[in-house]
Amino acid sequence: MLLEIYSKALYSTWVYYAPERILFDAGEGVALTMSNRIYAIRHIFLTHGHIDHISGLWTIINTRNNSMGDREKPLMVYYPKGNSAIEEWLEFINKANNDLRFELIQLPVVAGEKVFLRQAGGFARYIVPFRVKHTIQDFSLGYNVIETRRRLKSEYRDLPEDEISKLSRTLGPDEITEVYEKKILTISGDTFGIDPKDAQDSEILVHECTFLKSSDRKMNAHASLEEVIEIACQANVRRLILYHISSRYSGKIEKYLKNLGESVNFEIHYVDPEVVFTL
Ligand SMILES: [Zn+2]
Ligand SMILES: [Zn+2]
Repeated sequence: MLLEIYSKALYSTWVYYAPERILFDAGEGVALTMSNRIYAIRHIFLTHGHIDHISGLWTIINTRNNSMGDREKPLMVYYPKGNSAIEEWLEFINKANNDLRFELIQLPVVAGEKVFLRQAGGFARYIVPFRVKHTIQDFSLGYNVIETRRRLKSEYRDLPEDEISKLSRTLGPDEITEVYEKKILTISGDTFGIDPKDAQDSEILVHECTFLKSSDRKMNAHASLEEVIEIACQANVRRLILYHISSRYSGKIEKYLKNLGESVNFEIHYVDPEVVFTL
C-alpha cells in the first residue's frame, strides 16, 4: 500500500504515506482507523491549523503513550512556522501530556526548507514545503516528497544503447549522467488551486477539491474540480487524487468525473467522503 486517505471537508482529513511512514494532517478519527498502526508513524506534517486537520493529533499522541506498542522511536511533528492555532494546540497537548514515555519532537518549517527523510550515498529523499492560498490569518503549507534520481545528460539521450554502454565504460557512469530532483508525491492541503509549478512532473498529486461544481464555491479558500484538472494538466502529473471533497457530493462524484476520462492524460482517483481510500 502506498497511500491511505480519509477526507471529508469540514470534518476530518488525513493522508498516510506508507513508504516513508508519514501522516499528512491528523483529522479526527485517524487513530481510530489506523489503530495499532499509529506506532508505525514516524513523521506528521501538518498543513494548517483548522480543526478538521489537527483534532486527531492529541489522540495519536495520547494513545501512542498508553496502549501496547513500540515507544522507542521518536515521533516528529512538523507544522507551518508561525501558525498560531497549531502552536496553541501543541502547547495544550504538551501540558496535558507532560510525562510522555516516548520522544515527541515538534519542529516549525517554512516554504522551501528541506526536511531529509533518508540519505545514502548519492540518494536522498526529502520533504519540501510550499506556500498555498488558504487562510489569511494563518500560514498554510503544501508538501512535496522529492527524491534525487540520475538520468543521462541530454547530449547522450538519443544515442543507441550499445554506444551508451561504451561511453559508460570509457567515461564512467557519473560522467554521462546527471542528478535531478523528482517529485514523487505532492500534497496540497486546503487551498485555492496551487501553482502548477509546485507540482511539476509529480508522480502523484493529491489536491483538495472541495467543490465539484465551480458555482458552489462562495470564497476563494478552496479549489474546484475545473481548476484542479487544469492545474494537473499544466503540471504534467502522472496521477491525480482528489480529496477534501464536500459531503454534499457523496454518491454523485462519478457523475462529475464522467466526462473527464478522455480529455486528460493522467489517472484520476477520488476520495469519497464516506470511505477510507487506499492505493
Ligand atoms: Zn479542511
Ligand atoms: Zn482549512
